[in-house]
Parts: sequence; structure tokens; C-alpha cells
Amino acid sequence: MEIKAIRGFNDILPDEIGKWQFVEKTAREVFEGFGFSEIRIPILERTELFARGIGEATDIVEKEMYTFADKSGNSLTLRPEATASMARAYLEHQIYTFDPVAKFYCIGPMFRYERPQKGRYRQFYQIDAEVFGVDNPMVDAEIIVMLIHFLERVGLEKLELQINSLGCRKCRPRYRQEIINFLKKKSFQLCEDCQRRLETNPLRVFDCKVETCQAAIVDAPKVIDFIDRECQDHFGKVKEYLEAAGLTYILNPRMVRGLDYYTRTAFEVVSYQLGSQNAVTGGGRYDNLFQEIGGPDIPGIGFAIGMERLISLLPKDKVFIQHPHLFIAVLGDETIKKAYQLINQLHLEGIRAELDYEGKSLKSQMRRADKLKARYVLIMGEEELKKGRAVLRNMEDKSQEEIPIEGLLNALKEKVRRKV
Ligand code: AMP
Repeated sequence: MEIKAIRGFNDILPDEIGKWQFVEKTAREVFEGFGFSEIRIPILERTELFARGIGEATDIVEKEMYTFADKSGNSLTLRPEATASMARAYLEHQIYTFDPVAKFYCIGPMFRYERPQKGRYRQFYQIDAEVFGVDNPMVDAEIIVMLIHFLERVGLEKLELQINSLGCRKCRPRYRQEIINFLKKKSFQLCEDCQRRLETNPLRVFDCKVETCQAAIVDAPKVIDFIDRECQDHFGKVKEYLEAAGLTYILNPRMVRGLDYYTRTAFEVVSYQLGSQNAVTGGGRYDNLFQEIGGPDIPGIGFAIGMERLISLLPKDKVFIQHPHLFIAVLGDETIKKAYQLINQLHLEGIRAELDYEGKSLKSQMRRADKLKARYVLIMGEEELKKGRAVLRNMEDKSQEEIPIEGLLNALKEKVRRKV
């Protein structure tokens, strides 16, 4: 029986990879320009890191983690997100002793046991950026500015930045109680999951997609009305800094974000080009995470961009596939060695060149060059070669010229580079 990939795990094939490379390259350029450094963290961590860092009562920890025991009986989990691991690495290597402010980014696969559907997979890729060690609202705005700049640089349109403040450890409990009291009166309207969440993590009801749950929260009290003076000041400054950077935003009082660790600023960027899974990216401040995983009191803020969703939004007219610069069509056994030497030299110069390996007719070699969308074809026939020449055909305008074999390498380099 043919072995297939696991459900929800995707191959990214060569004709798609140009988009991924473009997105990753742009992220590196933009983030490094903003002073961020790449960090690579393991794909497997102790389960405890996520259980404590993300929160026991979240959907991720309750139902979506790929958790298993290794041969020594340790409970390990495939990372469902990167923030907790990045925070762990920052603590473990005592990076804060060198400089308390750390700006990291990380690109890689995450794993969640969710029901696969369009835009929702079990292995998916995220681009994460985090700032540890600063609670100044200027950083909240700075990281949002970087995010929007990046999304625009890759060509996304019709984006909407939504922000909210979730309060802090001091003021959120009062809001939480208010929501419990409010939802208890409507519990008959709530789905089974949300009835349970009412006790464990009532704010999750806001994220529930079930219609009756959405209807139940229409008039729910807003977190923004319950946050204390310090949180209000913080949020006010974030808004001022966003405005000073020329960004427009929408206040979304219903955005509470799925993870337990968020405090104060929360944000999402949604795209009206996407359907129901319209969040391209989300993030926020998490000033309690470090303590949850056993560290000192260190503030943090960050975001995670879903790469599959981002890639589905890239401009359709942009070409990401790299076609060969040159196809060498060879005629006759004598010429093959010459062509082989030439193509090796071209490859060493970084010129994408292809050759026929099967001794096919000129017609079929030209067909292949056409299919590969090669920009030029060099026809090396025995007759021409005897005269010390070869024919170069421009596949775009179909013009042909004879060029001398001597100096062929330089002539080809010159031609293909002109448009590289
Ligand atoms: P989260 O870590 O849940 O805040 O998600 C951040 C971003 O990752 C979301 O906005 C999505 O774009 C993306 N994402 C989350 N879960 C999935 C998934 N199962 N499949 C594909 N993308 C996802």
C-alpha cells in the first residue's frame, strides 16, 4: 500500500517554495532592521513548559497538544507555539544578565491536534517575534509597527489592525468574576465546551465559534471598562505611539486571545480576503509568563504570524518560481562533453542552466526548454561548433544570434545577468 502523509501535515512542493522563501527572506530583512536576532529552539520540549506557560485551561493544552512519553518515560510535547520555548531559552541561558532587553524572532513549524480544514492544519508554520525585558508601551507600538510594515512589504492588502487591552493580574480577576456572573445567567445558551469553560477559563467563550455562544456574549461587559488606572495609562500610550507612527487601528473589545498568558495589550491583524479563519496574525503582552515557567518577573510582548495563511494572501500576479536562465540544447556526441564543461562553469557562477541528459532530438529539447520557461536556449550543433560558434536563442522575442565559442561563458554571463 502506498504510504501517504499524515492528515493535516502538508508537503511544500518546489513550485510553491518560492513564496515561502520570499516571505522568510523579507521577515529576516525587516526584523533584523528593527534590531531583532534569530533564535532557533527545539521542536520538542517538556510538556510541563507548555502546560504552565500556555495555561492548563486553554484549548491548546487541553486538547490540541501532540504529547507522548519518550523511551525514558518523560512526557514530551511537539511545540504548539514558540513563545514559551523562547522564554525558556532566555532564562536557561541567562541572556538577561548580558542585556535585559532581548529581541528575538523564530521561524518554523508548530504542531496542534486540531480538526484540519482550509487554513487550519496540524503542522503549520509560524513566524514569531518577541521582545523580553521591557514593559514600556513604546515597545508594544514598535512591534506592531514592525508587523504591519512586514505585512505590507510582502504585499498584503485589505488588512485591519485590531487592538484591545486585557488588563493585568490585579484588575482582570474582577472582570473575570463579572463575566462569570453574566454568563451564568445565559448558561442555557452556551455549548457544552463553554459551559465547562465557565468554571475554568470563562474568557474563552469569546473565541467560541458556536452561534449561540456568540449570541450570548453580545451584551457582555467589556474588559476595557474594568482595567485599572495603570493599565488604562499603558493602553492610552500604546494608542498614542501607534498614531504617532501613522497607523490606524480598530478597538475590538471582544478580542481576548486564546492563551492564558496575555496581559494588557492584545492585537490581531485580520484580512478581509480570508474567510472564517481570517486572523493572519495575533499577539500581545504577557507579563506573567516568565513567572509561570519558574523565572523572575520579566515582561514580554510578541506576535505569531501563520505562514500558510499569509502565503495564501500574497499578490497573485507576483512570480515566485525561478525558471532556468539558460537551456543548452546539444546535438551530436562530440558536443556533449563541451556542453558539460560549459554547464559546470555556469553553475559555479550561479547561473541556472539545464541540459538534456537523454540525447533527444532538437525538437524535443526545444519543447523541454519551453516547458521549463528557460529565458535563453544555447544550441550547440556539431556543424556550428566546427566553425567555433553556437546559436543563442532568446525565448521571449524568438530572436537568434550566432556567438563565438571562445568567450562563450562571459557572453552568457553578461546576457543572463542583465535581467537577473
Ligand atoms: P496563535 O498562536 O493561536 O495566536 O496563532 C497565531 C497565528 O498562527 C494565527 O493567526 C494563524 O494565522 C496561525 N495558526 C494558528 N493555528 C493554526 C493552524 N492550526 N493551522 C494554520 N495556521 C494556524
